[in-house]
Amino acid sequence: MIDIQNKPQVVVIGGGPAGATVATLLAQQGVRVELFEREKFPRFHIGESLIPETYWVLKRLNMLPKLKDSQFIKKYSVQFVSDSGKQSAPFYFHDNKDHDCSQTWQVRRSEFDEMMLRNAEEHGVKTHEGVRVLDVLFDGDRATGIQIMDENGEKQEVYADVVVDASGQSSLLLNKLKLKVPDPSLNKGSIWTYYQGAKRDAGRDEGATTVLQVENKKGWFWYIPLHDDIVSIGVVGDFDYLFKGRGSHEEVFAEELERCPAAKMRIEGAQQVTKIFATKDFTYKSKQASGDGWVLIGDALGFLDPLYSSGVLLALKSGELAADAIVEGLKKGDTSRQQLGHWEPAYLVGMERMRKLVCEYYDGFNFGRFVRRFPDHRGDITDLLIGDLFKDSLDKVFESIATMKTESEAMAE
Ligand code: FAD
Repeated sequence: MIDIQNKPQVVVIGGGPAGATVATLLAQQGVRVELFEREKFPRFHIGESLIPETYWVLKRLNMLPKLKDSQFIKKYSVQFVSDSGKQSAPFYFHDNKDHDCSQTWQVRRSEFDEMMLRNAEEHGVKTHEGVRVLDVLFDGDRATGIQIMDENGEKQEVYADVVVDASGQSSLLLNKLKLKVPDPSLNKGSIWTYYQGAKRDAGRDEGATTVLQVENKKGWFWYIPLHDDIVSIGVVGDFDYLFKGRGSHEEVFAEELERCPAAKMRIEGAQQVTKIFATKDFTYKSKQASGDGWVLIGDALGFLDPLYSSGVLLALKSGELAADAIVEGLKKGDTSRQQLGHWEPAYLVGMERMRKLVCEYYDGFNFGRFVRRFPDHRGDITDLLIGDLFKDSLDKVFESIATMKTESEAMAE
């Protein structure tokens, strides 16, 4: 039997960034919370590049001193290389905000996620690793708890006022309640690996994320410098393009590198140090973020194409918003759908801004050209890239992108 102490007020499914965030912030505010993670940490995970707006949640979590003391590479900018090999001027985050928060980190996720989980424990969260959540229990429409299974196969039920699903792309509740809405316009996949001894820029550009377009804009590579001289490099493209009627993942990865000389040049002479990884489940969201007694956060709520490295930010942000809504609800004795998910509409508007910027990129949007045409928008573009998504003024960027498209079409005629 797994030792569950007092009847928890909240149970959290999953110990990734979303789960660790919600649990820590709940415990900080005096809520009895137990977290269940099927793996034993450290465990591998993709998603290594943070964006600056994570700063504010990390601050609340008391994670900043740990990150500042870590070996994680500091990230000051993001840069784009077009399919012709032309590199735009880097978007330096401090151009907009001359503040600590304008620098962020490239993290090895096994280490970052473990730090986050141990930090949750330090704040009073009771964690259970190696314990899989099999199901969420309901009484009518109200979630009442979870069924768990330990490593010996022993099953147990745990009851709580609120169930938080932070199970990532396993999306336990999304699947159980059939809430998944796929996004056919972003039906992508990815193949990636890790190299040691690859090229990296010097000084403050050392930790830049570089996004490099593949020939004919068929896809793009991420290039993320990590510590210990490791670089994470992966290609993203349409699902059919990458996976249908082509060879093994290894062959496709090598072919795509040939189509992206700027990426290939960066790893020349370097040594591949892991196997090739692949994932195919891209971009979806849930029909709703909450119900009576339950709430979804992070990838369990929705997943957006990783072009702008927004996943961990969205996991942290939704974890924060859910935690505050739960605390408020427990105080009022209200754990209804409306209370637990009152943050959802504003959150979705922000997420949609990031989604639109992703779609524009796939539609041929060129950052360098755009800021030359609309220099006043340079700051807004940087705001979007750092994840400062929740302000209406940013919508003007999309109007200007539409103007630029109309101008290009007129010139082409
Ligand atoms: P996860 O990190 O997936 O955590 C969920 C946890 O739940 C896992 O530890 C899992 O073991 C556990 N779990 C699942 N099911 C159960 C169960 N039944 N019982 C108990 N535990 C369970 N994001 C970025 O910010 N930057 C990037 O550069 C970036 N690049 C990416 C590249 C690719 C190819 C992909 C696919 C994603 C990328 N992401 C990136 C997104 C990022 O990986 C996710 O958005 C982020 O990990 C979401 O955090 P989470 O806590 O919601 O889920």
